[in-house]
Amino acid sequence: RSLLKVIVLGDCGVGKTSLVNQYVFKKFREQYKATIGADFATKELEIGERVVTLQIWDTAGQERFHSLGVAFYRGADCCILVYDVNVPKSFETLQHWHEEFIKQADLTEPEKFPFVLIGNKVDLEYGSTEIVSEKQAKEWCSCRGNIQNFMTSAKEDYNVDASFLCAAQLALANEDDH
Ligand code: GDP
Repeated sequence: RSLLKVIVLGDCGVGKTSLVNQYVFKKFREQYKATIGADFATKELEIGERVVTLQIWDTAGQERFHSLGVAFYRGADCCILVYDVNVPKSFETLQHWHEEFIKQADLTEPEKFPFVLIGNKVDLEYGSTEIVSEKQAKEWCSCRGNIQNFMTSAKEDYNVDASFLCAAQLALANEDDH
């Protein structure tokens, strides 16, 4: 029996809380609700013969980041980085989140640590706005080691299970390494 800690990072409003709520509770809320402080949800799942418990930590955006401190990052087995496919800025900021995680989690071999990249809100199309392409996301991943890449919609429950399952599998493999 394993307890795996997965943390979810990304700008405010990209849908981190919505992804976690959809995955764990099968619920989606339209109205905007800022995450209050750091919080986690748990979900049990089977991976092969193993029963694992995912502890998924979600945070609000950048502005609350400093108050979370080391405890938020400590012992993380996988990190999910989320951007909004309709908001290029949220994709650009991933660099910051990626570096911050590496620093705060004190990773010695960052290219070996499991990251999952999620481009969320694929159900939306904001007309004239230039959206972040899947190709850009793949390039982002390939120059930073072995990062898995998913396009999701928390609203329509598209690819949400697959993303978290992938994170869980990577986290388990990472834990077994130690
Ligand atoms: P967080 O700040 O990253 O945790 O973002 P939230 O989960 O609070 O979501 C911000 C807003 O985006 C909320 O109004 C959600 O209802 C909305 N949202 C989240 N995911 C999706 C999605 O996949 N599609 C659409 N259309 N809206 C979404």
